[in-house]
Amino acid sequence: MPRQYPLEKVRNIGIIAHIDAGKTTVTERVLFYTGLSHKIGEVHEGTTVMDWMEQERERGITITAAATTCFWTPTYRKGDKAFEHRINIIDTPGHIDFTVEVKRSLRVLDGAVVVFDGVAGVEPQSETNWHYADEYKVPRVCFINKLDRTGASFENSFKSILERLTPNAMRLQIPIGLESSFEGVVDLLGRQAYGFEGEHGEKIVEREIPESMKEEVEKFHKELVEKIVEFDDELMHLYLEGKEPPVEDLKRALRKASLEVKIIPVLCGSALKNKGVQFVLDATVDYLPSPLDLLPVKATSVKTGEEILIQPKDDELVAALAFKIATDPFVGNLTYFRAYTGTVKKGSYILNTTKDTQERIGRLVRMHANHREDVDEIYSGDLGAIVGLKSTGTGDSLCDPSRPLILERIIFPEPVISVRIEPKTKADQEKMGIALRRLSDEDPTFRVSGDPETGETIISGMGELHLEVIVERMKREFTVEANVGRPQVAYKETILATAEAEGKYIRQSGGRGQYGHVWLKVEPLERGKGFEFIDAIKGGTIPKEFISAVEKGVKEATVKGVVAGYPLIDVSATLYDGSFHEVDSSEMAFKIAGSMAFQEAAKRAKPVILEPIMKVQVIAPQEFLGDVTGDLSSKRGKIQEMSDRANIKVVDAHVPLSEMFGYATKLRSMTQGRGSFTMEFSHYEAVSQNVAQLIIEGKK
Ligand code: GDP
Repeated sequence: MPRQYPLEKVRNIGIIAHIDAGKTTVTERVLFYTGLSHKIGEVHEGTTVMDWMEQERERGITITAAATTCFWTPTYRKGDKAFEHRINIIDTPGHIDFTVEVKRSLRVLDGAVVVFDGVAGVEPQSETNWHYADEYKVPRVCFINKLDRTGASFENSFKSILERLTPNAMRLQIPIGLESSFEGVVDLLGRQAYGFEGEHGEKIVEREIPESMKEEVEKFHKELVEKIVEFDDELMHLYLEGKEPPVEDLKRALRKASLEVKIIPVLCGSALKNKGVQFVLDATVDYLPSPLDLLPVKATSVKTGEEILIQPKDDELVAALAFKIATDPFVGNLTYFRAYTGTVKKGSYILNTTKDTQERIGRLVRMHANHREDVDEIYSGDLGAIVGLKSTGTGDSLCDPSRPLILERIIFPEPVISVRIEPKTKADQEKMGIALRRLSDEDPTFRVSGDPETGETIISGMGELHLEVIVERMKREFTVEANVGRPQVAYKETILATAEAEGKYIRQSGGRGQYGHVWLKVEPLERGKGFEFIDAIKGGTIPKEFISAVEKGVKEATVKGVVAGYPLIDVSATLYDGSFHEVDSSEMAFKIAGSMAFQEAAKRAKPVILEPIMKVQVIAPQEFLGDVTGDLSSKRGKIQEMSDRANIKVVDAHVPLSEMFGYATKLRSMTQGRGSFTMEFSHYEAVSQNVAQLIIEGKK
């Protein structure tokens, strides 16, 4: 089938929100209205709108897909199909332990709708996600939801966005009435008021701007126009001559400013009461980018190592990114991908450049709100899912086999916490292996390893909750019962100084002996640099084949550090001298010598234990502030900032992860249930001597 929607009529968006702000409700309404408007056009199918709505209700709307496709004709086009757009909604997770997932989804979406609770305004997690979106320069439209709730305030919520998130936010609408009398919105560009009628608010009706609001509407309209014309010289001229630029032109300039994230349009409504969601869809079409509006994506050629830029073109060789692996109860394993360029075709072969495996695309699907559509191709700039790929994991690059490319990698943080896990029965044992492999394919921040000494399985992740969810999923989706140990902090080790040492492995007692002899220098590397091996041997003091054996030995020695046996990271080892024996030298002897020299040098280079430090934000009423900060300090926490937020205090701190176990319960009891907190990994830091002692003794 040829391409149905030109690229400029495609939007790839995410809906981002703090838990409870109404993401699910907004998404449900979006799928409802888009289904409705799409159906209205298809008269020949004979289904009336009502029929369809009934069906929809019976089946329940599926909104669990990682990417759901829907269609929208802007309301101001009054059902004219020529203006229908394809909107792919990419799922973004809500909980803070899953910020990596948010980051990952931000990587494949082009624009976002950020939903706020009109009572609470900006909440801590919205801040975190907002900053991520800034990092990726994602254009956004804000939707202040729940204006029907008691205590809702559009103005306060809008101000909290201005103050805490961005000075570039601009009102595009203001509400008519609030709380139980919230009944419509005024569009500030067109200076037109609207109400919502019909059982689902699907009928948008024009109405008069209430007399009491006219002055305010004029003021905000002027503010908005003045800001928009800054982005267009012609409009600015017109405006300075005292002429009002046409709304169409203003919208065009606003689109440009929004794509550059210089203006962030703010809309409002109540998803629950079916008010305002259609306008969010209009804004998605009008102010969020199509794949054509994006900068080219960077990719690295596997063959030449060169960096190339790719842009969406249907007839290019395919380059796609797998962004989510999911298990669908009906079709099995689904690999969701975004085609950055080229056309992904059913029946063709695709190369996974990350894993260097080639697989055939047996089946290609696109997920809609209430059905799965089998398709023959997915065009560039679009999203879809391949059924049944075996070796592909999240973040892998998928390409045409004749042009192996690695797309910009998504960088995932190292896990900071781990627990031992033991299957309850023999039957569980087998299933557990499969379940853990599947789950770690889906989630790159979740790792599975074995303890070489005890043979036990260890699972590691980004937080207590992260691992709890994994264990819960193992039980629910794979019916595996397991005993779970106490969470352990993923400590690391590093060195603070430079040192040298000799490693000698010489055995010469009868028969063929062993001879390996090296001199190594170790140096600290910047945090996050990992491990580096430098060969500085000159004049064949050690033959080539033994040098790689030394490297192997050193690398193996980093697995177990010299202070307490934790992995030694951020260190470089230089092999600069040594000697060999014509007959007795072997790879084994050099490997052992390398490992010995490294351990000895590390011991002399001020080795320390590193612990994960978390970025913690606690929110609590003023009266508990003293208890909260006192407690954080006793946890070796460092307060970074304290601020006020409508009647409530916000404390930002850095706290070692080992001190944060069970904090949810502690905080609840300390604040009579009124405090809450969020936490995410920040960085690794060296521990003091006494803490190191406790860690070595296994008391931390
Ligand atoms: P999510 O956690 O962000 O997905 O939020 P949900 O969509 O599940 O909504 C959380 C709660 O807020 C639910 O009880 C919803 O019914 C309610 N809710 C969502 N939108 C609105 C709204 O516009 N007005 C009111 N009063 N409640 C809403």
